[in-house]
Amino acid sequence: MAKYWHEDIETMPREDMRKLQSERLVAQVKHVYEHVPYYRDLMDKKGVKPDDIQSVDDLHKLPFLSKADLREAYPYGLLATPLSDCVRIHSTSGTTGKRVVAFYTQHDIDLWEDCCARAITAAGGTEDDVCQVAYGYGLFTGGAGLHGGSHKVGSLTLPMSSGNTERQIQFMRDLGATILCCTPSYAAYIGETLHDMGLTPDDIKLKAGIFGAEPWTEEMRRSIEKSLGIKAYDIFGLTEISGPGVAFECAEQTGMHINEDHFIPEIIDPETGEVLPEGTVGELVFTSITKEAFPLLRYRTRDLCVLSRKKCSCGRTLIKMAKPMGRSDDMMIIRGVNVFPSQIETVLIEQGYSPNYLIEVDRKNNTDTLDISVEMTPEQFSDKMKDVQEKERSLAAAIKTMLGINPKVHLVSPKTITRSEGKAVRVIDRRKLHD
Ligand code: ADP
Ligand code: ZN
Repeated sequence: MAKYWHEDIETMPREDMRKLQSERLVAQVKHVYEHVPYYRDLMDKKGVKPDDIQSVDDLHKLPFLSKADLREAYPYGLLATPLSDCVRIHSTSGTTGKRVVAFYTQHDIDLWEDCCARAITAAGGTEDDVCQVAYGYGLFTGGAGLHGGSHKVGSLTLPMSSGNTERQIQFMRDLGATILCCTPSYAAYIGETLHDMGLTPDDIKLKAGIFGAEPWTEEMRRSIEKSLGIKAYDIFGLTEISGPGVAFECAEQTGMHINEDHFIPEIIDPETGEVLPEGTVGELVFTSITKEAFPLLRYRTRDLCVLSRKKCSCGRTLIKMAKPMGRSDDMMIIRGVNVFPSQIETVLIEQGYSPNYLIEVDRKNNTDTLDISVEMTPEQFSDKMKDVQEKERSLAAAIKTMLGINPKVHLVSPKTITRSEGKAVRVIDRRKLHD
């Protein structure tokens, strides 16, 4: 069984990779400077010329791009090729505001699909596999990316898109799907539905899942692995940089290898923009060095994570990024304390609850309020008020230990919180609505 999709690249000695990156970066900066007036202006304002960029060591001299730039330049302002050379458009999910669009030439689609093929291969996928793609198809990059990767690998592709969960399970059984690709929240829902249909992991042939597009915790991973009887691999990406497959997990499951031959990562201090040393948590920044149509340089993702060059048992030399804790804009400041939804998810699953929850933040009498509704599993469900109150108290105490602030926990009946078929919405911050 093939261990790697592009062995020479995935296991390339560090020095060779830096050389390759440097060559590609120098060419890319010229391409962008010549063809993207928006970025040329930013470079001119900073006093940087293409000749100032001779290697990866000069990357820090380039100006950043942010989502605000993409919104300002919408739709064509960052396009670096004639539109007639482009073959596809995708758009972000709009999780945090107005959607932005990205353009692809056939070359860009090919390299993106190759990145997804690397991810599928790392999860054990081959031409003998049946790959069920249950990410949404359409403008969202999830469906198209994994679909293309699955074709490259030669797996039999089941282009299900998301939704119609019972039918997903029916096809999964009838057609013997071995790999499932979808968001982690949808994978959890599929696992729950399997159980509700009176089936167990023994009734399906799945062996692996490739889950991403939203933050998820280690606890959530273990819970999905158990409910579907699989090994669950993380995959990371964003539309602005291509889509899923910017980074992918190997069997070691200790972070995702970044496809560094295409995307150079940096970690910066989100306040000062200063590049931080390896091992420090900060904002992830990517520079696309091979894309033609939409080649973003130093794009600030707002994702918070940490990079590591620790040797990996899989043999890949590609740098690894830790699971992002969430985006800087997912972070809530509640009564002065920084809170990520992922911290709350960790406690819930540790305490035996399902990953079905909703966090509501508001401000009453000048004080922030934090309400967390959590679904009980059918086994936990009780109609005795006293039992439920006792459980709520103990869960609130566990969350307080994690966050340092006291939440109000509401345990609700099974199946009352809306399930996600794509990216889950876990937080409603009403303070923003009042502002
Ligand atoms: P939007 O920015 O509107 O959500 P995208 O669909 O392009 O649009 O989503 C990209 C974002 O999704 C990333 O910047 C990151 O915040 C999140 N994301 C993608 N994959 C993962 C993952 N494996 N873990 C955590 N977050 C992820
Ligand atoms: Zn590895």
